[in-house]
Amino acid sequence: MLTYYFYNQNTDAKGNHQVHAPDCTYSPEVEDTIALGMHANSKEAIQYAEAFTGKTNFDSCACCWTKLEKSQA
Ligand SMILES: [Zn+2]
Repeated sequence: MLTYYFYNQNTDAKGNHQVHAPDCTYSPEVEDTIALGMHANSKEAIQYAEAFTGKTNFDSCACCWTKLEKSQA
């Protein structure tokens, strides 16, 4: 199942862009988000983000991962 992913254009305390899915408690303000499109999981979304931006400082949001992917792991 594909999920819409986006990332926070502002970096977190570790200098990473957090990648989120919708309905996340920790999701940033809409104006701070960059869409990544539909992906099977956050790992794929991050790979896409790295290719799309040329940056490598992306990190999956633990909250989203727990909600969406833990049961699939
Ligand atoms: Zn999140």
